[in-house]
Amino acid sequence: MRSSSKNSAFGDYEPANIELPPLYSWPLRIAPALRYLFFDILFPLGFIYLALAFPIWWYFTPPLETMAVFSPDWIALLWLRNCMLLCLFAGGLHWWLHLKKQQGGLYRMNRKALATDPKAFLWGNQIKDNIFWSIASGVTIWTGYEAISYWIYASGRLPIVDNLWWGIASVYVLFFWSTLNFYVGHRFLHWRPMYQRVHSLHHRNVDIGPWSGISMHPIEHLLYFSPFVLWWFIPVHPIIIIVTGLYQALNPTVTHSGFEYLKLGSKCKVKIGDWYHQLHHQYFNLNYGNTFLPIDKWTGSWHDGSEESLHTQKAQFRKRSIS
Ligand SMILES: [Zn+2]
Ligand SMILES: [Zn+2]
Repeated sequence: MRSSSKNSAFGDYEPANIELPPLYSWPLRIAPALRYLFFDILFPLGFIYLALAFPIWWYFTPPLETMAVFSPDWIALLWLRNCMLLCLFAGGLHWWLHLKKQQGGLYRMNRKALATDPKAFLWGNQIKDNIFWSIASGVTIWTGYEAISYWIYASGRLPIVDNLWWGIASVYVLFFWSTLNFYVGHRFLHWRPMYQRVHSLHHRNVDIGPWSGISMHPIEHLLYFSPFVLWWFIPVHPIIIIVTGLYQALNPTVTHSGFEYLKLGSKCKVKIGDWYHQLHHQYFNLNYGNTFLPIDKWTGSWHDGSEESLHTQKAQFRKRSIS
């Protein structure tokens, strides 16, 4: 049992084994596949990012005329707005789940408390360290990509496409491209020289919290936030640029929360954590991508959380190490 490695104070919560999304079952079951594609992958976080993007565009983004010329003034405002969004999501979840411990150990996937290895972190504190990398590097590179993207439209280099169906299609292009980009970039970051210099910074977080989500080395941020580049070539409405930022920057804070569900009231729970990626933090050499595009399944690095799957993965890793 995996729970044997858990600190007993952290309960015995075991997430269910991970299954392939219905999109990939054969023979294809049309209704579950469509439901997955148009509802499950968006609920609830995708819908929240889409709903947030509109007021952010209307009230918290400088006018396009202003952004036609690069200036530290409007870029600083964007940085501040993004910093506040990150603090709201990561800070809010951290406060609720890890400080206030509002739901105790219920649905907790972490095996130990945060900040258990002070030597590995800046100021000897995992949380302060994660906040530093998320804001100093994460928010800065997120804002940089975003500013360039707006400038391309504001200066007339690409036309603004104001079409609902094009907007919906571009959200799916983003999901697909971001997932592929994450897998390819992540495999590259596990190449030994890159791992040692760059990606190990994220992997120091074996047990994770909301601030671990985009706590990365600047080079990893450059790769991770690169899906913005899509909109330097494919014309969209600038709201899609905001959705890209929210999805890339805020989603990891939620999926790294260390808890599979957020308990709301006595009967309601909302899926927040990503057991698939949490297993990557725990075991390191498996589950490089995510389930939406299960490249790990096709390349043999898929771990569904079961004991048998872990044994298979360990045996494969030994074989690869020897050969
Ligand atoms: Zn990794
Ligand atoms: Zn991670």
